[in-house]
Amino acid sequence: MKALGPIPSAYGAIDGVLAVGGKPVTDWVEQAGSTPLFLYSADLVRARVAALRAAMPERLALHYAVKANPFAPLLSLMSGLVDGFDIASGGELQIVRDAGIAPGRVSFAGPGKRDAELEAAILAGVTLNLESEGEAARALVIAERLGVTPRLAIRVNPAFDLKGSGMKMGGGAKPFGVDAERVPALVREVVGSGAEWGGFHIFAGSQALDAEAIAETQAQALELAARLAGESGVPLPHCNLGGGLGIPYFPGDAPVDLDLVGQRLAERFESLPDVLADTAFCIELGRYLVGEAGVYLARIVDRKVSHGEVFLITDGGLHHQLAASGNFGTVVRRNYPSAIATRFDAAVEEEATIVGCLCTPLDKLADKGGFPRADVGDLVAVFCAGAYGASASPASFLGQGPAREMLV
Ligand SMILES: *Cc1c(COP(=O)(O)O)cnc(C)c1O
Repeated sequence: MKALGPIPSAYGAIDGVLAVGGKPVTDWVEQAGSTPLFLYSADLVRARVAALRAAMPERLALHYAVKANPFAPLLSLMSGLVDGFDIASGGELQIVRDAGIAPGRVSFAGPGKRDAELEAAILAGVTLNLESEGEAARALVIAERLGVTPRLAIRVNPAFDLKGSGMKMGGGAKPFGVDAERVPALVREVVGSGAEWGGFHIFAGSQALDAEAIAETQAQALELAARLAGESGVPLPHCNLGGGLGIPYFPGDAPVDLDLVGQRLAERFESLPDVLADTAFCIELGRYLVGEAGVYLARIVDRKVSHGEVFLITDGGLHHQLAASGNFGTVVRRNYPSAIATRFDAAVEEEATIVGCLCTPLDKLADKGGFPRADVGDLVAVFCAGAYGASASPASFLGQGPAREMLV
């Protein structure tokens, strides 16, 4: 039997069935009309934001990275909970605008911004996190033509990365950001052009669970911001310290020690150099805010035994849950937390492999896990489905189409 990842502790059962938002998931599936279904819990998102606010220094603003989950009702909920939004495409700009989020709260990072995207962002009044000198030049030409003062920040490619990070976004040659040593010259050029100076964006990695490593990276980001602001000779209005806080997906993973990260950052804020005395700070988080608040539900449509192994075949699969299948940025496939939702508090009775309905051996949701005996009609739950699920999976593969989504 292979281990399953840890089910987030907030989940329990009602009458033996996995509960979300105070109701058994079978009620939500009935309301949705069909499976597969992504269920997102508003209470769990609120609780997560509240825990962050309580642990972090008040001076630190909280941004939501939209790419983790751009579901419109979730964005509307987030709008009342966080201070800002980070987007990474013109499509996401449209999505946040449709959700009624004021463009003044939005910053736009990401390589390969097209001229039309730069134009839409500048017209809307979104902060652009510039990824290169070339992008800066294009943004300035477009703003000039439009007769609009753009708000321009610079994404710095730091010389350090976030240790233990699942996805490294800094350190060495990268398509992201401007190499640190070239930043002061670009700051002077941006400020000299008459643009509104938006400060630095320093993002060093993602999906880290080690609080000491996260604290160390934040300390390095503060030092780098101070040094670059000093060398630029321009006051720093704002600094986005990036994100990095991860969630436990796999056997042996433990949650981030949030209090430790908060304490370390508070200590750093107490002793900031003069050049950062008036700087506003934020962090931007995606999966940490929404990942554990989501559950993916699929129905078992067939149960079969092959060479003595039990296969539970569902109506879901990697076309909605690419990451859980192990095909989104992982080297070795490990099991996400999963369960038989309709027998949530039953004991383990057998080893089974839960697969999707796609005709490819990649389509595994749980490999040789221990489950209660489940049959056709039972619901399977895959946890940690609130981030990089629906929007980061190939929904049109094999003509399957998207899953339903519900915020409850
Ligand atoms: C993807 C991304 C994030 C969010 O990362 P999470 O791991 O979901 O917190 C934040 N900022 C930038 C620039 C990103 O590219």
